Amino acid sequence: MFKLPTCPHCNSVYYYKDIKKALKQKENTCNHCKKKFFATNKAGKAIIITADIIIILPLDYFLFSIIPNGPLIPVFIITILLISVSFLLFPFTAKFKKSST
Ligand SMILES: [Zn+2]
Repeated sequence: MFKLPTCPHCNSVYYYKDIKKALKQKENTCNHCKKKFFATNKAGKAIIITADIIIILPLDYFLFSIIPNGPLIPVFIITILLISVSFLLFPFTAKFKKSST
C-alpha cells in the first residue's frame, strides 16, 4: 500500500516530487518510455482521511479528558500536525494507470 508508484508501461520508479506533480496533471508522459499514463490516489486519500478521523478524534477526546480546562491550543496543534503528516503520505498511495488514449 505505502509504496511509491511505478510507470505502468516500463516500471520506472518515480520520486516523491514527481508523483506530486503527476497527480496534479490529467495525463502524464513517462520520462523513460514516453508512453502515457494517468495518476490517481482517490482510494488512498479516502483511506488516509478515514485513518485520520479514527486516530485524531479519540486522541483529541483523550487529551481533553486527561487535562481538564481544555488544552485547546496544544490539541489544535497536534491535530493539525497529524493531518499535515498524513497529507504527506498521499503520494505513497498513488497509483499510475495506463492511459486509454
Ligand atoms: Zn515508462
